[in-house]
Amino acid sequence: MRPTYLEVNLTQLKQNLENIRAKVAPAKVLVVLKANAYGHGVDGVAPFIAPFADYIGVAIVEEGIHLRNMGIATPILVMGGTLLEQLPDFFEYDLTLAASSLDLLTAAEQLAASTRKRLKTHLKIDTGMERIGVREYEATTLIQKSLACSHLEIEGIFTHFANSEIMSLRGGHLLFPPKQSPTNLEVASGLSPLATTSSTLQLERFQEVLSIYEKLNAPHPPIRHTANSGATLSLPESYYDMVRPGVLFYGVYPSRDIERTIDVKPALTWKSKVVYSKITQPGRGVSYGSLWQAEAPTRIVTIPCGYADGYFRRMTNQARVVINGKSYPQVGRICMDQFMVDVGEDDVKVGDEVTLLGNGITAEDFADWVGTNEYEVMTNISARVPRVFVERGAVQ
Ligand SMILES: *Cc1c(COP(=O)(O)O)cnc(C)c1O
Repeated sequence: MRPTYLEVNLTQLKQNLENIRAKVAPAKVLVVLKANAYGHGVDGVAPFIAPFADYIGVAIVEEGIHLRNMGIATPILVMGGTLLEQLPDFFEYDLTLAASSLDLLTAAEQLAASTRKRLKTHLKIDTGMERIGVREYEATTLIQKSLACSHLEIEGIFTHFANSEIMSLRGGHLLFPPKQSPTNLEVASGLSPLATTSSTLQLERFQEVLSIYEKLNAPHPPIRHTANSGATLSLPESYYDMVRPGVLFYGVYPSRDIERTIDVKPALTWKSKVVYSKITQPGRGVSYGSLWQAEAPTRIVTIPCGYADGYFRRMTNQARVVINGKSYPQVGRICMDQFMVDVGEDDVKVGDEVTLLGNGITAEDFADWVGTNEYEVMTNISARVPRVFVERGAVQ
């Protein structure tokens, strides 16, 4: 196998799920397996975790089909937007539809009537994300229509928070004065001054939608759900009947300042091996662009991993790695397939193990070096990096 690989600790993922469950019970837990299980490798994570999940969440219908083809039998909600022409796949693969518009709901009902299959459907309400879904102020029509959809199983109703990981926005509605364009740094940190929609405001709007059922004297769908990781940590009143933690299940907190009310730990270790080791002289620039050179003779080692593997080029001259228990700086441009590390006077040899992520180096560190969030760090690790799944210390 390739010396550069990602070790995925399945036992830790299960522990994370158990800790989340203990906090939110009796609410159910939907485990989010979109984007290749946040980069962890869905082919190993899904079969292991599915028996412990009440529901599985994916972003796109193709991810749902992939899971069904693997033999996963757990209910699967396709949370993202769906085109009308993708509807037949929901019937064929028994996937749950997020009905995010009246048109989609109507088309699904017609197809259900003609195929005589009852499609599980969750109504998607937009309470402040302005991404997909029917806004709370136009939800009555959707709900009335859904109550008349006799061929669909209207199993759920849900919304999604825009700012649940920002603690300062938890209580208020409009803490930042709107301004035209946030800086790149504000966007990267998630602290855009345009963020004016608090989770409590979104919950109020969701509650408004639920009260439509009372007015219509009809029961609400049995599974009401709103909580992503941020809300699962900080907003118990958002749990309703099910929570949808993504990043938290993978052991990473959705922001630095959020209260860590649930104990989780990362499950990823990204490893490689030194593939070349030499002394470099001053005056000889290292890598493309010659952006770095030594002030005195120093040992430079080469690691067979690069930005094509998801080791961001943006981390050039900022990243650090651990070799033989010691932290060293990455130096010179990160290449597509290789990068260099300055180990100074230390005797680092070809074949020595290198830790890129894990062993004290966190996804937060990567996010700082790159100027992005932990989500992008994990989902960016490319398919070229083999995933090795470990359960109770044993490779699966
Ligand atoms: C991705 C996603 C989640 C999980 O978000 P985290 O911030 O990772 O917890 C929950 N709900 C929906 C609709 C999503 O798209």
